[in-house]
Amino acid sequence: MIKKLLLLAAENKRLEDRVSRNPLTKGLVSRYVAGTTLNEAIAVARALNAKGIDVSLDLLGETVSELRESAAATNAYVDTIHAIAERAPGATVSVKLSQLGVGLDRSVCAGHLKQMLEVADQSGVTVEVDMEHSSVGPQTLETYRSFLPSFPNTRVAQQAALRRCQDDLNSFTDVKPRIRLVKGAYRESIDKAICDAGEVTAQFLHLTEWALRNLPDPAFGTHDDACIDHVKAVADRLGIDRRDFEFQMLYGVRRNLQEKLAAEGYRVRVYVPFGSQWYPYLMRRMAERPANLLLFLRSLIGG
Ligand SMILES: Cc1cc2nc3c(=O)[nH]c(=O)nc-3n(C[C@H](O)[C@H](O)[C@H](O)COP(=O)(O)OP(=O)(O)OC[C@H]3O[C@@H](n4cnc5c(N)ncnc54)[C@H](O)[C@@H]3O)c2cc1C
Repeated sequence: MIKKLLLLAAENKRLEDRVSRNPLTKGLVSRYVAGTTLNEAIAVARALNAKGIDVSLDLLGETVSELRESAAATNAYVDTIHAIAERAPGATVSVKLSQLGVGLDRSVCAGHLKQMLEVADQSGVTVEVDMEHSSVGPQTLETYRSFLPSFPNTRVAQQAALRRCQDDLNSFTDVKPRIRLVKGAYRESIDKAICDAGEVTAQFLHLTEWALRNLPDPAFGTHDDACIDHVKAVADRLGIDRRDFEFQMLYGVRRNLQEKLAAEGYRVRVYVPFGSQWYPYLMRRMAERPANLLLFLRSLIGG
């Protein structure tokens, strides 16, 4: 119930305006967001690199209402890619296609993504495409698919909760995708997604083995011990080296575990969001851990 309310709140523009302007949320935001500027994000990236952890930089922002905003976001991503190439080698960028305008004009969005992919390719940087709500999910996947033959290193997130996930994965018969398997963070209807948490985890476990058997260099975006232990056990059983897949986690979540996995010799990449449009991102993080709601409310009333 609380989770549903928080996910509804994530979509509420009026609440976004109010909360975003409230200085008292600063402490909570800083737990999950690296800062408002690219320089702050690069500093966080370098600190994590020093601990043997890679990063993916996410310029916060989603669902633009005008195409000029998507062009501005693309330019900001191009700057981020150049900064990574110079100052944080090994980092990737993660992008939401709603931020590049997929909901407004698919061909314009594809043009923006192409621009990013070309610059990234020339700079030796990988692009990761986040997967959003199912209202833009199929368009996101088809746009990704259209670029995969030319940019096969590009990664795409896949949500285990979505009923179409396995069919989507099976549909790649030519070039196999590099995926980031996640449980799924959006409010979806029962016909589109599994809603029971235990069933979502079971599906994540099933897809983990499928991905390790069938896909190149899969990434597993999770903080769940049961999922992480399963990835380790299956990789071990299949004789897959610890460097041939990747654990991914969110900035600010289970930091000790991130360092422990890196010390054990696994590849770990932390998703580092930065920028000023943090509200929907933060609300999804609240929804994942309703205990966070208390922190959130306390920060709003200044406790
Ligand atoms: C790198 C990365 C990229 C992602 N990209 C996408 C994407 O493109 N599309 C998408 O739909 N979803 C994405 N997600 C979110 C994902 O779908 C889940 O909502 C999120 O990871 C929580 O699920 P979990 O597997 O960690 O398991 P859970 O069962 O939710 O969490 C396991 C444990 O992790 C800790 N934990 C989890 N979340 C939090 C939190 N917010 N704050 C504090 N502790 C927490 C708690 O201790 C919890 O008990 C991404 C997640 C990661 C890690």
